[in-house]
Amino acid sequence: MKYISTRGNAPTLSFEEAMLTGLARDGGLYLPESIPEMSPADIRALEGQSYEEVAFRVMRPFLGDAFTDAEFRGIISRAYAGFGHAARAPLKQLDSGHFLLELFHGPTLAFKDFAMQLIGQLFEFSLKRSGKRVCIVGATSGDTGSAAIEAFRGLDAVDVFVLYPHGRVSEVQRRQMTTPSEGNVHALAIDGHFDDAQARVKDMFNDFEFRDAVGLAGVNSINWARVLAQVVYYFTAAVSLGAPDRKVSFTVPTGNFGDVFAGFIARRMGLPIDRLVVATNQNDILHRCLSTSEYKPDGVIPSISPSMDIQVSSNFERALYYAYGEDGGAVAQLMDELKAGGFSVSQGALQALRETFDSGRCDENETRATISRTWAGTGELLCPHSAVGVHVAETMRQTGVPMITLATAHPAKFPDAVQEASGQHAPLPERMADLYDRPERLTRVANDLSAIETLIKERIAH
Ligand SMILES: *Cc1c(COP(=O)(O)O)cnc(C)c1O
Repeated sequence: MKYISTRGNAPTLSFEEAMLTGLARDGGLYLPESIPEMSPADIRALEGQSYEEVAFRVMRPFLGDAFTDAEFRGIISRAYAGFGHAARAPLKQLDSGHFLLELFHGPTLAFKDFAMQLIGQLFEFSLKRSGKRVCIVGATSGDTGSAAIEAFRGLDAVDVFVLYPHGRVSEVQRRQMTTPSEGNVHALAIDGHFDDAQARVKDMFNDFEFRDAVGLAGVNSINWARVLAQVVYYFTAAVSLGAPDRKVSFTVPTGNFGDVFAGFIARRMGLPIDRLVVATNQNDILHRCLSTSEYKPDGVIPSISPSMDIQVSSNFERALYYAYGEDGGAVAQLMDELKAGGFSVSQGALQALRETFDSGRCDENETRATISRTWAGTGELLCPHSAVGVHVAETMRQTGVPMITLATAHPAKFPDAVQEASGQHAPLPERMADLYDRPERLTRVANDLSAIETLIKERIAH
């Protein structure tokens, strides 16, 4: 299996190379050159299997010869061993025909653990085999960073630097990033928004001299291995509701489009997904684009679902690649237009996107009302991101097709917003109850590329 760039102008890589590289050298994102299919019989055979076994069968065809079957099974088993629920991604019924896929039982209580824990184990295996070292640098609006730190803390061959927007992550998110005491963990609080942090990380990847000098590796949601890990729970959820013999739809709280794009891949592999609904908060560039064809960033308005406070949705580029008939030149041109302020999706490409994706928006009041209403009606305490999904799903449901909304974080990760909306205190699970007592360690940085690069070089020199 070979990997190609969405912009059509970077070296073709193996799975392992694409995973260790992250962003392609032409600025594009890696995708498999073809998408393996699973037959209805293959899908039916997943019924009753463990999460780990489904993960093995779904991901294996994408890996080429990177690992033996036994090695890959070991990697998967170590990745999910720290989850607090035997099913890993349990499905709960909210209402007739509406289900919640709980993706928050990992070590940092958000769905990003599914991808990040796997990537930690994949990196460790690959780097040990090659004797190399890497420097992982990521931008986070809160959840990616804590998931990355949790996945890489204490590993020998990796330093992990996480840039998060100062003052714009929740206290639990911040503490999850600043309390690990391992020397290879570096939490950097940047003056700016998430988009600034993400832009500086992109700049570092485009600075080839720096990139090679420090052995830069990315684990942001653009990393193909992360997308792949997220494909798995679309299968476990759909199969438990009757796939391949019954269609299901998914509603996905969306920011960088990684999670919902994994659903697109599952659909292309043959999973009978009817609709994939993109749910945004008030930062609704994706909803605006899918409704009007105009993709124009207009500034972030901070919300109570901060992990979706995004105006440049990096993985959307992958969906555009397929919508434009796998034309890397066309995607490269759109991305040039984006640098100049925005672009308009062609009619043909918009139609292609709408064959799979619907979209909806949920404002702050609707988010709070959904938390409160769902608590009263079901006893389920939703985090604000999951509430955005549930609200949009309720407006989009079609009779006859079950709707599965992805619950992307545990309510205890956003206790203030949850309390304000529902009057309920969401306690942390027992295993992390002492989070507020652990000492914090972080470094403030300006929104300045060369200062950040200098700091990273100094830190890894020790
Ligand atoms: C990251 C995140 C999202 C958005 O996921 P994307 O893959 O960026 O679309 C939604 N909810 C939570 C809790 C998250 O951490």
